[in-house]
Amino acid sequence: MKITDIRFKKASFRFKEPVHVAFGIIEGYETVIIRMDTDQGITGYGEAGPLGFVTGDSLDTCLAIAEDFKAGFIGEDPLTIERIHQIMDAMYNYNTSVKAAFDIACYDIAAKNAGLPLYRYLGGFDPRIESDMTISMGEPQKMAEDCLGWINKGFRILKLKLGDDVVKDAERVRTVRNAIGKDIVLRIDANQGWTPKEAIAIEPVLRENNIELIEQPVKAKDYTGLKEVKEKSILPVVADESIHVPEDAALLANMRACDGFNIKLMKCGGIFPALKINAIAEANHLMTMIGCMGESIIANTAGMHLAAARRNISKIDLDVTFMTSCDWITGGFTAEGGSITLSEEPGIGIHIDQF
Ligand SMILES: [Mg+2]
Repeated sequence: MKITDIRFKKASFRFKEPVHVAFGIIEGYETVIIRMDTDQGITGYGEAGPLGFVTGDSLDTCLAIAEDFKAGFIGEDPLTIERIHQIMDAMYNYNTSVKAAFDIACYDIAAKNAGLPLYRYLGGFDPRIESDMTISMGEPQKMAEDCLGWINKGFRILKLKLGDDVVKDAERVRTVRNAIGKDIVLRIDANQGWTPKEAIAIEPVLRENNIELIEQPVKAKDYTGLKEVKEKSILPVVADESIHVPEDAALLANMRACDGFNIKLMKCGGIFPALKINAIAEANHLMTMIGCMGESIIANTAGMHLAAARRNISKIDLDVTFMTSCDWITGGFTAEGGSITLSEEPGIGIHIDQF
């Protein structure tokens, strides 16, 4: 099989409500959508959702590099994924979002070629997964109301964004837990907002309120701080911004600096490196969570297929689809609240109008 054409375009999406996290307020996002055609009539779709302050790239760098990748990819076989990544890595270091877009498009083609939904092509553990819903950081009462709203829509796992003020964070957790009762699973994400000392100080409060796990308590590069929190904390500590690519996973696993990794396709460069990260996690007895960036149903569903393919990917944070409205990209999965069932259509199972 040969790649005959690659097209890409910018797409804009707006959140139904602005998202507040420790680094600021996010109103919406733009992505680059890729369409890859082959000489066998199979078309694959991929998407880059750069988030500069995490991934260090931008929409413009993704578009410029996509142009260069296109030139390097015409005539290549999309089924040779190891080689595809070698071509991309030889041309550009880092720039994981645009690499993820090309990686996802190749996997979409490969699974369609095999006549399998992507999750089965990748190993096929279980097409049913359950995502959490992320709750923006805000006033404690407002966060509690937001939680109740999503619980009413059928979500049973919620993730609270914390991290701007550790005293207020404790109040947020208590207020939310009081409001929602004991049966809802609650996890928290401090998005690097705490010092190790603050994280260690708040951990008993989190435990009293039955928090499931602590995500990225300290600065991304503070690996020793992360390890210190992990060692002093009874609750599991999951690294997100601290881990991008497989090498980071190996380092943190070696250091025993955390209890799990949050994989995001945009941070690592796609499904191929994500599988490596999960393998490192599993072999080191670490949990894997999968998260998302500002991305549409295309990249989000690719993440769902990855999660559905692997038993060790047990924590799902693929909620951006539920926070955005988009009528021109459809398919992929059905959902009741956060309970997702992947489509059995070959590939990612996504349909795009207007491309
Ligand atoms: Mg996070």
